Amino acid sequence: MATKVKKTIGHKGGLENLLSGLATLFLVIGIVGAITVLLLSVDFNGRFSLLGLILGLIPVIGILVHGLFLYALCSAGAEVLRLLKKQNGLPYGGNISGSDPIYEKFCSECGVRVGERDDCPSCKATFTY
Ligand SMILES: [Zn+2]
Repeated sequence: MATKVKKTIGHKGGLENLLSGLATLFLVIGIVGAITVLLLSVDFNGRFSLLGLILGLIPVIGILVHGLFLYALCSAGAEVLRLLKKQNGLPYGGNISGSDPIYEKFCSECGVRVGERDDCPSCKATFTY
């Protein structure tokens, strides 16, 4: 007879997830605020007024930049908490962000960077794939 086995597959909660939530909130506020200010630059007749648009772009950019900055700041804070908890062997909520490797192709004979070429510009070797 089979039984259900309870296994821990991850963790949730913690200050790191609160910071991640705040980061998302700041990003949404920044985008919504920027759209709202842009819409407020439309005059009451439903037309864009050039002066309103020019004056509206300054706070639009300001609100958007602040939203993005606070998103990055809170995300970085959450990442630091996760890394500190991981380093100390403590469970942490959320995921630690990863990175993608960047590849470049080099000649196996002389080590010169060759990119997508079919032959080496230095030792004239032809490549087989
Ligand atoms: Zn070579």
